[in-house]
Amino acid sequence: MYGYQGKFLNVDLSAPNTREMPLAEDELKNFIGGAGLAAKMIYGQVKKGMDPLAPENPLVFATGPFTGTTIPMVSRYAVCGISPLTGYWGEATSGGSFPFRLKGSGYDGLLITGKAKNPVYLYIDNGSAQLKDATHLWGKDFYETQKILNDELKDAKMSVAGIGPAGERLVRYSCVMNDRGRAAGRCGLGALMGSKNLKAVVVAGNIKAELADDKKIKKLTKEAQSTVKGNLLTVAFREYGTLMYTDMGMYLGDVPAKYFTKSIFPAEKVTGQALRQAYSVEFAACLGCPVGCGREVKGFRPDLDTVHGPEYETAIAFGPLCMNFDLDSIIQANHLCNANGMDTISAGVSIAYAMYLSEQGVLTRDKAGLDIKWGDAETVLKLLRMIVDQEGIGKLLSQGTLKMAREFGRDPGEAAQVKGMEMPMHDPRAYHGMAISYATGPRGACHLKGDYYNVDLGPPVLELEIFPGERMSAKGNKAASAAKYQSLKDLYDSLTLCKFAPLSVTQISEILSAITGWKYEPKDILAAGDRSVNIKRVINNKLGLTREDDKLPKICLEPLSEGSTAGVVPDMELLLKEYYEHRQWDWETGRPKKEKLIELSLNQAAEDLYGK
Ligand code: SF4
Repeated sequence: MYGYQGKFLNVDLSAPNTREMPLAEDELKNFIGGAGLAAKMIYGQVKKGMDPLAPENPLVFATGPFTGTTIPMVSRYAVCGISPLTGYWGEATSGGSFPFRLKGSGYDGLLITGKAKNPVYLYIDNGSAQLKDATHLWGKDFYETQKILNDELKDAKMSVAGIGPAGERLVRYSCVMNDRGRAAGRCGLGALMGSKNLKAVVVAGNIKAELADDKKIKKLTKEAQSTVKGNLLTVAFREYGTLMYTDMGMYLGDVPAKYFTKSIFPAEKVTGQALRQAYSVEFAACLGCPVGCGREVKGFRPDLDTVHGPEYETAIAFGPLCMNFDLDSIIQANHLCNANGMDTISAGVSIAYAMYLSEQGVLTRDKAGLDIKWGDAETVLKLLRMIVDQEGIGKLLSQGTLKMAREFGRDPGEAAQVKGMEMPMHDPRAYHGMAISYATGPRGACHLKGDYYNVDLGPPVLELEIFPGERMSAKGNKAASAAKYQSLKDLYDSLTLCKFAPLSVTQISEILSAITGWKYEPKDILAAGDRSVNIKRVINNKLGLTREDDKLPKICLEPLSEGSTAGVVPDMELLLKEYYEHRQWDWETGRPKKEKLIELSLNQAAEDLYGK
């Protein structure tokens, strides 16, 4: 097998033991790697009513065939499991150097089950794996943990992924951190790691997976590098990071403010340019990436020299969404989340919802233990610390907006989430292709698989016949195009490839063919993406998901009275009908139709849903 190590490491933390798990060729051909392969592995364990934090819930770390090659923007890995936040399929990806080192350690990924009696960490070095005591690391933040492990293991080429106190305390949106402030952020998979008493995974090694056609990969690498370097966004990302979008996004009505009730705010205060003017900022790149969209704020405070970030999603969630325009507090909030291992999006949305509830007179000073006012930077930081420490109202906020709405007897539509996962910082009223992607995404409100703003603002995806259209309209095959685009972007997390990589589908299929030696055409790329989306859908169906769950929260469907989206809301009924028809999902049950599953070679899933 080319492009793969051909095996996973299976870790049973209860036993405890580790063993090698060979991968089957047909599974790799069909599911490629990363999150798609993880879904195939987890599929058989899924049962309705399962507790995401039970020891038997598997946790998967997975790289893909692109990882570890010379192709730019491929140092990525996926962390997957049933989400402690939503109870449905959970996945998150991250970059840095960890993904390359994980694959270099001799495994394509890790399948982790059970629960350790005491805190442990996993150390894999060039194919040799050990579970080691982590009692001394428990309670430490991620940066301290990383430093202690670096000092202990003294391996300059190792990389650490792990959790902070939020994951240990099972904060439902805690994340898995790695390297310099990189996060597999969404779905609460840090809590899954914490529930297993697994503090960290340390990887090192230089075992290379053989490639089918080295010469072709050299040529394709050069072409890919020139595509990346020639892309206009590359320069903008490097100079200003993802925050370059704030002002343009606000003019388009795409940047939510005041808990999704406004779209106009002083955008110039939260841009990449503002960050660079106020602080000493350097770019940070994942291994092998010529872009470097990451930010590092240097000399932030005497006791805190470097803060990783903030990036767009984080800055908007703690900024305009909370009507907070104090950059200093946004940087601090970002650092608090990184150090403690917490998703900045869900944390920011939960805090903004607390501000909204406070304004409505629901979350009073008596109930909260403090005054919660829009724009109060100190309150944002105080609430974050309360969430991490599970103190007072912080305990409820740590469970996300849906639980908050239920606790206060509010309409669940007021909770800015889909399937329990908080909305990201792109407003569905601004791009109706985003609206349908959010409503139907395998992990809930996900801007990474359905970044349809990139379609409506950018070039077409010619090979898949996806064309830019009127952004605030359901017309022009919008939902069918969004479904195709969602499948394509889903596949990036199987390959594994950064979402910002400006490669064409033809380039992707040629690279995959040259790495694996298996022939992929652009249509096969789409089919593999469809397969990945559908197996995740069946996992969700098995967990109880129906069409009723494919909806946007009411708070994001109220027409705004200002900005470029004033008075416009997506026609969700029309979009959903077209989307279901394109996907061949059953309108009554929300399940993929039997013939669709068979067409995608998901025969077991077809049998599980429909019988033999
Ligand atoms: S664009 Fe950013 S996230 Fe993507 S690989 Fe480069 S540095 Fe990493």
